[in-house]
Amino acid sequence: MTSSSPIWRTTVLTLFPEMFPGPLGVSLAGKALESGLWALEARDIRDSATDRHRSVDDTPAGGGPGMVLRADVLAAAIDAAEMVPDAPNSRPRLLMSPRGRPLTQSRVQALAAGPGPLIVCGRFEGIDQRVIEARHLEEVSIGDYVLSGGEIAAMALIDACVRLLPGVMGKLASGTEESFSDGLLEYPQYTRPQTFEGRPIPEILTSGDHAKVAAWRHAEAEALTRERRPDLWVQRPAPKTRQKRPKNTTEG
Ligand code: SAH
Repeated sequence: MTSSSPIWRTTVLTLFPEMFPGPLGVSLAGKALESGLWALEARDIRDSATDRHRSVDDTPAGGGPGMVLRADVLAAAIDAAEMVPDAPNSRPRLLMSPRGRPLTQSRVQALAAGPGPLIVCGRFEGIDQRVIEARHLEEVSIGDYVLSGGEIAAMALIDACVRLLPGVMGKLASGTEESFSDGLLEYPQYTRPQTFEGRPIPEILTSGDHAKVAAWRHAEAEALTRERRPDLWVQRPAPKTRQKRPKNTTEG
Protein backbone atom coordinates (compact mmCIF):
# COMPACT_ATOMS: atom_id res chain seq x y z
CA MET A 1 0.00 0.00 0.00
CA THR A 2 2.77 2.45 0.87
CA SER A 3 5.07 1.36 -1.96
CA SER A 4 5.33 4.11 -4.54
CA SER A 5 5.36 1.81 -7.54
CA PRO A 6 3.71 -1.55 -6.91
CA ILE A 7 4.33 -4.15 -9.58
CA TRP A 8 1.99 -4.62 -12.49
CA ARG A 9 -0.54 -7.18 -11.32
CA THR A 10 -3.29 -8.68 -13.41
CA THR A 11 -6.21 -10.78 -12.24
CA VAL A 12 -7.89 -13.14 -14.67
CA LEU A 13 -11.35 -14.54 -14.01
CA THR A 14 -11.84 -17.76 -15.90
CA LEU A 15 -13.51 -21.16 -15.82
CA PHE A 16 -10.13 -22.65 -16.70
CA PRO A 17 -7.53 -21.21 -14.30
CA GLU A 18 -5.26 -24.16 -15.10
CA MET A 19 -4.65 -22.58 -18.52
CA PHE A 20 -2.53 -19.90 -16.77
CA PRO A 21 0.27 -18.89 -16.88
CA GLY A 22 0.55 -21.28 -19.86
CA PRO A 23 2.55 -19.56 -22.59
CA LEU A 24 3.04 -16.55 -20.31
CA GLY A 25 5.21 -18.76 -18.12
CA VAL A 26 8.02 -19.15 -20.67
CA SER A 27 10.58 -16.93 -22.38
CA LEU A 28 10.71 -13.22 -21.53
CA ALA A 29 7.28 -12.97 -19.90
CA GLY A 30 7.93 -16.13 -17.89
CA LYS A 31 11.31 -15.02 -16.63
CA ALA A 32 9.87 -11.66 -15.66
CA LEU A 33 6.99 -13.41 -13.88
CA GLU A 34 9.42 -15.60 -11.98
CA SER A 35 11.58 -12.68 -10.96
CA GLY A 36 8.58 -10.70 -9.73
CA LEU A 37 8.49 -7.95 -12.37
CA TRP A 38 4.80 -8.62 -12.75
CA ALA A 39 2.19 -10.85 -11.12
CA LEU A 40 -0.67 -12.96 -12.37
CA GLU A 41 -3.63 -14.22 -10.40
CA ALA A 42 -5.97 -16.63 -12.16
CA ARG A 43 -9.24 -17.07 -10.28
CA ASP A 44 -11.85 -19.72 -10.93
CA ILE A 45 -15.28 -18.21 -11.65
CA ARG A 46 -16.78 -21.52 -10.57
CA ASP A 47 -15.66 -20.86 -6.99
CA SER A 48 -18.41 -18.26 -6.87
CA ALA A 49 -21.18 -20.66 -7.87
CA THR A 50 -23.63 -21.15 -5.06
CA ASP A 51 -25.76 -24.14 -5.99
CA ARG A 52 -25.11 -27.78 -5.30
CA HIS A 53 -23.88 -28.48 -8.83
CA ARG A 54 -21.64 -25.39 -8.90
CA SER A 55 -23.33 -24.33 -12.12
CA VAL A 56 -22.13 -21.17 -13.81
CA ASP A 57 -24.26 -21.05 -16.96
CA ASP A 58 -27.84 -21.36 -18.07
CA THR A 59 -29.88 -21.32 -21.26
CA PRO A 60 -30.33 -17.98 -23.06
CA ALA A 61 -33.45 -16.00 -22.25
CA GLY A 62 -35.53 -15.80 -25.43
CA GLY A 63 -34.18 -19.11 -26.69
CA GLY A 64 -31.39 -20.00 -29.03
CA PRO A 65 -28.38 -22.27 -29.00
CA GLY A 66 -25.75 -22.67 -26.32
CA MET A 67 -25.44 -21.41 -22.78
CA VAL A 68 -24.84 -18.04 -21.16
CA LEU A 69 -22.59 -17.26 -18.19
CA ARG A 70 -24.79 -16.20 -15.27
CA ALA A 71 -24.69 -12.60 -14.07
CA ASP A 72 -24.95 -13.45 -10.37
CA VAL A 73 -22.08 -15.94 -10.42
CA LEU A 74 -19.76 -13.68 -12.40
CA ALA A 75 -20.62 -10.61 -10.32
CA ALA A 76 -19.77 -12.55 -7.16
CA ALA A 77 -16.46 -13.64 -8.73
CA ILE A 78 -15.59 -10.04 -9.62
CA ASP A 79 -16.52 -8.78 -6.15
CA ALA A 80 -14.42 -11.48 -4.51
CA ALA A 81 -11.43 -10.60 -6.72
CA GLU A 82 -11.72 -6.92 -5.85
CA MET A 83 -11.72 -7.71 -2.12
CA VAL A 84 -8.27 -9.29 -2.21
CA PRO A 85 -6.00 -7.06 -0.05
CA ASP A 86 -3.45 -6.57 -2.85
CA ALA A 87 -6.04 -5.52 -5.41
CA PRO A 88 -5.53 -1.90 -6.51
CA ASN A 89 -8.42 0.41 -5.68
CA SER A 90 -9.20 1.24 -9.21
CA ARG A 91 -8.01 -0.76 -12.15
CA PRO A 92 -9.42 -1.29 -15.61
CA ARG A 93 -12.01 -4.06 -15.73
CA LEU A 94 -11.94 -5.73 -19.09
CA LEU A 95 -14.15 -8.36 -20.66
CA MET A 96 -12.58 -10.19 -23.58
CA SER A 97 -15.28 -10.12 -26.24
CA PRO A 98 -15.53 -10.16 -30.04
CA ARG A 99 -18.01 -7.29 -29.68
CA GLY A 100 -15.46 -5.10 -27.95
CA ARG A 101 -13.38 -2.24 -29.23
CA PRO A 102 -10.40 -3.76 -31.06
CA LEU A 103 -7.22 -3.81 -29.00
CA THR A 104 -4.50 -1.48 -30.30
CA GLN A 105 -0.88 -0.90 -29.41
CA SER A 106 -1.73 2.47 -27.89
CA ARG A 107 -4.32 0.85 -25.61
CA VAL A 108 -1.72 -1.78 -24.70
CA GLN A 109 0.73 0.99 -23.80
CA ALA A 110 -1.88 2.65 -21.59
CA LEU A 111 -2.71 -0.66 -19.87
CA ALA A 112 0.97 -1.42 -19.33
CA ALA A 113 1.43 2.00 -17.70
CA GLY A 114 -1.43 1.37 -15.23
CA PRO A 115 -1.76 -0.97 -12.25
CA GLY A 116 -2.72 -3.98 -14.41
CA PRO A 117 -6.29 -4.90 -15.35
CA LEU A 118 -8.85 -7.31 -14.06
CA ILE A 119 -9.76 -9.46 -17.05
CA VAL A 120 -12.91 -11.54 -17.44
CA CYS A 121 -12.75 -14.44 -19.88
CA GLY A 122 -16.08 -15.38 -21.40
CA ARG A 123 -17.10 -18.88 -22.48
CA PHE A 124 -20.14 -20.43 -24.11
CA GLU A 125 -22.31 -17.97 -26.07
CA GLY A 126 -21.13 -15.12 -23.89
CA ILE A 127 -22.12 -13.55 -20.61
CA ASP A 128 -25.31 -12.02 -19.25
CA GLN A 129 -25.50 -8.36 -20.32
CA ARG A 130 -26.51 -7.18 -16.86
CA VAL A 131 -23.19 -8.00 -15.25
CA ILE A 132 -21.35 -6.12 -18.00
CA GLU A 133 -23.35 -3.04 -17.05
CA ALA A 134 -23.50 -3.52 -13.30
CA ARG A 135 -19.76 -4.13 -12.90
CA HIS A 136 -18.71 -1.64 -15.61
CA LEU A 137 -16.85 -4.13 -17.77
CA GLU A 138 -15.14 -2.69 -20.83
CA GLU A 139 -15.38 -5.10 -23.76
CA VAL A 140 -12.11 -5.61 -25.63
CA SER A 141 -11.66 -7.63 -28.82
CA ILE A 142 -8.42 -9.03 -30.19
CA GLY A 143 -9.77 -9.26 -33.74
CA ASP A 144 -12.71 -9.92 -35.99
CA TYR A 145 -13.00 -13.65 -35.48
CA VAL A 146 -14.56 -15.79 -32.76
CA LEU A 147 -12.56 -17.82 -30.26
CA SER A 148 -14.11 -20.48 -28.07
CA GLY A 149 -13.18 -18.62 -24.92
CA GLY A 150 -11.59 -15.44 -23.62
CA GLU A 151 -8.45 -17.08 -22.18
CA ILE A 152 -6.32 -16.97 -25.31
CA ALA A 153 -7.46 -13.42 -25.94
CA ALA A 154 -6.52 -12.47 -22.36
CA MET A 155 -3.11 -14.07 -22.82
CA ALA A 156 -2.54 -12.08 -25.99
CA LEU A 157 -3.43 -8.86 -24.19
CA ILE A 158 -1.28 -9.67 -21.14
CA ASP A 159 1.68 -10.68 -23.28
CA ALA A 160 1.50 -7.43 -25.24
CA CYS A 161 1.47 -5.44 -21.98
CA VAL A 162 4.13 -7.41 -20.14
CA ARG A 163 6.79 -6.98 -22.83
CA LEU A 164 6.46 -3.21 -22.36
CA LEU A 165 7.01 -3.29 -18.58
CA PRO A 166 10.30 -1.81 -17.40
CA GLY A 167 12.99 -4.46 -17.18
CA VAL A 168 11.16 -7.18 -19.09
CA MET A 169 12.89 -6.75 -22.44
CA GLY A 170 15.96 -4.90 -21.18
CA LYS A 171 17.13 -2.27 -23.64
CA LEU A 172 14.89 -3.62 -26.38
CA ALA A 173 11.81 -2.59 -24.46
CA SER A 174 11.46 0.87 -25.91
CA GLY A 175 9.67 -0.61 -28.88
CA THR A 176 9.95 2.76 -30.59
CA GLU A 177 10.65 1.30 -34.00
CA GLU A 178 8.17 -1.53 -33.81
CA SER A 179 5.07 -2.07 -35.83
CA PHE A 180 2.33 0.44 -34.91
CA SER A 181 4.59 2.59 -32.73
CA ASP A 182 4.65 5.33 -35.35
CA GLY A 183 1.53 4.26 -37.18
CA LEU A 184 3.53 2.08 -39.57
CA LEU A 185 4.27 -1.62 -39.87
CA GLU A 186 7.85 -2.60 -39.19
CA TYR A 187 10.48 -2.74 -41.93
CA PRO A 188 11.92 -6.17 -42.89
CA GLN A 189 14.67 -7.62 -40.70
CA TYR A 190 17.73 -9.59 -41.75
CA THR A 191 20.60 -11.38 -40.03
CA ARG A 192 23.39 -13.74 -41.02
CA PRO A 193 24.12 -15.62 -43.15
CA GLN A 194 25.04 -12.92 -45.62
CA THR A 195 23.49 -14.98 -48.42
CA PHE A 196 20.58 -17.37 -47.93
CA GLU A 197 19.59 -19.63 -50.84
CA GLY A 198 21.02 -17.10 -53.26
CA ARG A 199 19.35 -14.11 -51.58
CA PRO A 200 21.79 -11.55 -50.18
CA ILE A 201 21.01 -9.14 -47.36
CA PRO A 202 20.08 -5.77 -48.96
CA GLU A 203 23.37 -4.02 -49.56
CA ILE A 204 22.47 -0.83 -47.74
CA LEU A 205 22.12 -2.71 -44.44
CA THR A 206 25.74 -3.78 -44.53
CA SER A 207 27.02 -0.37 -45.70
CA GLY A 208 27.51 0.99 -42.19
CA ASP A 209 25.81 4.24 -43.20
CA HIS A 210 23.30 4.74 -40.38
CA ALA A 211 21.42 7.59 -42.01
CA LYS A 212 20.95 5.62 -45.22
CA VAL A 213 19.87 2.54 -43.25
CA ALA A 214 17.30 4.61 -41.35
CA ALA A 215 15.97 6.14 -44.56
CA TRP A 216 15.76 2.74 -46.24
CA ARG A 217 13.90 1.24 -43.29
CA HIS A 218 11.47 4.11 -43.17
CA ALA A 219 10.74 3.81 -46.88
CA GLU A 220 10.21 0.05 -46.54
CA ALA A 221 7.89 0.56 -43.57
CA GLU A 222 5.87 3.09 -45.53
CA ALA A 223 5.62 0.87 -48.60
CA LEU A 224 4.54 -2.15 -46.54
CA THR A 225 1.93 -0.17 -44.64
CA ARG A 226 0.51 1.40 -47.77
CA GLU A 227 0.22 -1.97 -49.45
CA ARG A 228 -0.98 -4.16 -46.59
CA ARG A 229 -2.81 -1.79 -44.29
CA PRO A 230 -4.38 1.08 -46.18
CA ASP A 231 -6.51 1.66 -43.05
CA LEU A 232 -3.38 2.41 -40.99
CA TRP A 233 -1.83 4.39 -43.83
CA VAL A 234 -4.63 6.94 -44.02
CA GLN A 235 -4.70 7.35 -40.24
CA ARG A 236 -0.99 7.59 -39.63
CA PRO A 237 0.21 10.49 -37.51
CA ALA A 238 2.38 13.16 -39.09
CA PRO A 239 5.89 11.68 -39.29
CA LYS A 240 8.42 12.76 -36.68
CA THR A 241 11.80 13.61 -38.11
CA ARG A 242 14.14 10.88 -37.03
CA GLN A 243 17.41 12.25 -38.44
CA LYS A 244 19.30 13.90 -35.63
CA ARG A 245 20.49 16.91 -37.63
CA PRO A 246 18.41 17.71 -40.67
CA LYS A 247 20.47 19.82 -43.06
CA ASN A 248 17.85 22.52 -43.36
CA THR A 249 17.82 23.61 -39.70
CA THR A 250 20.36 25.10 -37.39
CA GLU A 251 19.13 23.21 -34.31
CA GLY A 252 21.66 20.97 -32.75
N1 SAH B 1 -21.59 -15.54 -29.08
C1 SAH B 1 -20.54 -14.59 -28.92
C2 SAH B 1 -19.18 -15.26 -28.99
C3 SAH B 1 -18.84 -16.05 -27.77
S1 SAH B 1 -17.26 -16.78 -27.90
C4 SAH B 1 -20.64 -13.54 -30.01
O1 SAH B 1 -21.10 -13.88 -31.10
O2 SAH B 1 -20.22 -12.41 -29.80
C5 SAH B 1 -16.92 -17.13 -26.22
C6 SAH B 1 -16.00 -16.16 -25.52
O3 SAH B 1 -14.74 -16.14 -26.18
C7 SAH B 1 -16.43 -14.73 -25.47
O4 SAH B 1 -17.30 -14.49 -24.39
C8 SAH B 1 -15.14 -13.99 -25.30
O5 SAH B 1 -14.73 -13.93 -23.94
C9 SAH B 1 -14.15 -14.87 -26.03
N2 SAH B 1 -13.81 -14.36 -27.37
C10 SAH B 1 -14.18 -14.90 -28.55
N3 SAH B 1 -13.71 -14.21 -29.59
C11 SAH B 1 -13.00 -13.18 -29.08
C12 SAH B 1 -12.28 -12.10 -29.65
N4 SAH B 1 -12.19 -11.93 -30.97
N5 SAH B 1 -11.68 -11.23 -28.81
C13 SAH B 1 -11.78 -11.36 -27.48
N6 SAH B 1 -12.46 -12.38 -26.88
C14 SAH B 1 -13.06 -13.27 -27.66
